[in-house]
Amino acid sequence: MLSTNIFYSGYNILFSILSLFIGIGTVFLVKDSKVFRSLFLFQLGGLTLILLTYLTVNDHVLYKFGLNYNFVAFVQIIISLIISVLWINSAADFHHNSFANREALTVYMSFGLTACIYYSFVEYNAEYATYLRSIFTITGITLLFFSCLTKLWKNFNTGNLLFALSLFMLGNKLVVSSFFYHYNWLNLNIFNWLWIYMFAVAVVFMKFDMYKTDLQKSWNSIDKLNLQLMNMIDTSPDPVILLRRDTLKLYTLNSKAAILLGVGKKEIRYHGFADFFIDEGNREHFISIIEQNGEIKDFDLMACNIISGSPFWISASAKILEYNNIETIYIVLQDIALRKEREASLHNIADRDPLTSGWNIRYFEKVAASRAQECIKNGQNFSLLLIDADKFKKINEKYGHQLGDKVLIKMAEICRNSVREDDIVARYGGEEFIIFLNNTNTHSAARVAERLRQSIEDDFIKSENETIKFTASIGVVSSEKTASIELLLRQVDDAMYQAKRKGRNRVAVYNEQEIKATPTKKKKSPKNSIHPVFQNEESEEISLLDNYENRGL
Ligand code: GH3
Ligand code: MG
Ligand code: MG
Repeated sequence: MLSTNIFYSGYNILFSILSLFIGIGTVFLVKDSKVFRSLFLFQLGGLTLILLTYLTVNDHVLYKFGLNYNFVAFVQIIISLIISVLWINSAADFHHNSFANREALTVYMSFGLTACIYYSFVEYNAEYATYLRSIFTITGITLLFFSCLTKLWKNFNTGNLLFALSLFMLGNKLVVSSFFYHYNWLNLNIFNWLWIYMFAVAVVFMKFDMYKTDLQKSWNSIDKLNLQLMNMIDTSPDPVILLRRDTLKLYTLNSKAAILLGVGKKEIRYHGFADFFIDEGNREHFISIIEQNGEIKDFDLMACNIISGSPFWISASAKILEYNNIETIYIVLQDIALRKEREASLHNIADRDPLTSGWNIRYFEKVAASRAQECIKNGQNFSLLLIDADKFKKINEKYGHQLGDKVLIKMAEICRNSVREDDIVARYGGEEFIIFLNNTNTHSAARVAERLRQSIEDDFIKSENETIKFTASIGVVSSEKTASIELLLRQVDDAMYQAKRKGRNRVAVYNEQEIKATPTKKKKSPKNSIHPVFQNEESEEISLLDNYENRGL
């Protein structure tokens, strides 16, 4: 039967060396200090066993002191137990209590423990050992088969557990087999070598598999998160766009944003932030806030639909976000066209003249000073024209107030048509209009005024069978001598009165000397906003002999 030399067998040494290699291999795979420490202890234990075995055989020193193989077996069990506990702890720690991994590693370690038990208690019964070997082989292979199947079904947890159990069985088989060859390890047949090899390979692969499973799980959860985010973006009731932070090119957008901005989902990569947000200053401000704070809330931007080219206002809230490993700027847009329209119309109501639909005196006073500043800053002159309908009271008296209104509407229209878009035309009083001419000196302003006067003179209103003609007197002043709007308004008023005085239906350029020479005139404050209709009307006698002629400029 089996001799007490069992620990002296080559197989025992081989097994210890093999486990040493597996251990070192695993250390390379698991670069974790706790695992490494446990492995190191395990291998140290194995080597101690070999040493003790060697020293306790019959002809060795320790044997003479009464230490026999039973003592060695006892030491083996204790060491294996300690190592198993260490392994379980470190494995659980390392894998954050991942069930399959912990179980697998525990089984791997209990292999050593089982080996000790067999060596110690079962070795005398070869028959029992044979029986056990068959059971372990069959269950091991069956479990291996099922573990492969469950892996194919992608049930990684169950697969790993079954795989670990199969390793346990095959490992045990290996141990039991060793009983038969203990007396001469060179007698190990090809199948037993194969088992050893398979065991080593299986352990290494299991380790790989654990990583793969963990990695797969993380990928799956990242995919899931990305999908969830995409779904959230897609189902958002607001338009949402994702820009690449580095290039500011579109990364993705939902269908609401695609419609709003006029981008097909296939053309996304051709477009960037600058294509949709047309105001460069606004755009840069928006990006600089995001880069500074990582987020921005309710920022009003002028956007445009790239198909129709039509601009509109949107409010954008944004945050820097990592999506699919790419730094993106997540922007939620809100169509605020309605709000802006409402704001604009409120603005308009306050700044518009209800009769002529043009600007009113309030608006003129609000913007004239800043326009003047702008011109001065650009080294340009500006001019003012004050247009006053001639003998308007008479028109009212003769044709009625309603027709008088029509004349005023017509005059406002002529004024607007006679100047550039960015000049300001405003109703200044009852039958008076004022015009701010950007970048215009006295000479050009007088030309504009004369053209305007002519247009008014040429125009007419039809009332039943009658054609009603009307004229206006125009005062002109420029900022060449002073840029003070207040002073210029007084001067243009003086000039207009000069035109009246000199016969009406004419243009008068402000001339200081001439004004000083003028004896009396009724001064009227341009800021007197009481509607002349309600004013105490008293007609002013003006000398028609005054021959100041300013036509033909
Ligand atoms: P002048 O050539 O000296 O300017 O004579 P005028 O009659 O135009 O001058 P005056 O300032 O005395 O009269 C202005 C008139 O304009 C008085 C008022 O009845 C009329 N008027 C003012 N606002 C309106 C308006 O909104 N509609 C109408 N129909 N008439 C207005
Ligand atoms: Mg008047
Ligand atoms: Mg008048």
